[in-house]
Amino acid sequence: MLRQVGVLVVLLGGLATGAIVAAEPASRPAQREPLHVLFLGDRGHHRPADRAAQITPVLAGRGIEVTYTEDVNVLDIAKLSKYDALLIYANIEHITPSQENALLSYVESGGAFVPVHCASYCFLNSPKYIALVGAQFQRHGTGEFETEVVDPNHPITRDLESFYTWDETYVHHRHNEQGRHVLQVRDEGKTKEPWSWTRVQGKGRIFYTAYGHDGRTWQNPGFHNLLERGIRWACAKEGSGRTEGICL
Ligand SMILES: [Zn+2]
Repeated sequence: MLRQVGVLVVLLGGLATGAIVAAEPASRPAQREPLHVLFLGDRGHHRPADRAAQITPVLAGRGIEVTYTEDVNVLDIAKLSKYDALLIYANIEHITPSQENALLSYVESGGAFVPVHCASYCFLNSPKYIALVGAQFQRHGTGEFETEVVDPNHPITRDLESFYTWDETYVHHRHNEQGRHVLQVRDEGKTKEPWSWTRVQGKGRIFYTAYGHDGRTWQNPGFHNLLERGIRWACAKEGSGRTEGICL
């Protein structure tokens, strides 16, 4: 029986490989290098390890390798330099001057930075970090909602399918509009709350989204697509062969 199962696995594996090759979109290079993303979490109430466990196989299937850590000492230029992007999903209150300097140097020299949800309420002692993200979380309610794309021509949002999800209704303050380009907004009473945006700082690209309080959003295919696009856009840069805004 074991041998039969093994043969079946080999057969299915061969079929699957053939199917993948046949279904490969023409726009995707056949042998593109995977992107390497460092995911910095913590042991806080957002349970980043669980969220990383959800998203890692999804992104792996799309050519993005995720390495998870809860060690804030990865904010070191030699360690960060090994990765195409740093994703933060954590509520770490304090950043040291050397960690702050490493993060800023990494981004400004061309590293990609992807702060997600609670990352806009991380490193509360650092105005430079808040400015790097593009705003700071201020308050929230909860609800099931859909956001509105305000730039349908951007590589991240072009033809992006909208989706409903339950999430926290983040409202931000301490906005830094320098280099910031808002892509999605959420109705907050009579105002439109910036929800997902890009920033550029030095040679670096930043993609932030307020989505992502818990597993409901992290399991949503719409969120998977948004996050993948955000990572790819942030990783696209001059000299990398990824100059078309996004490397899909
Ligand atoms: Zn939250």
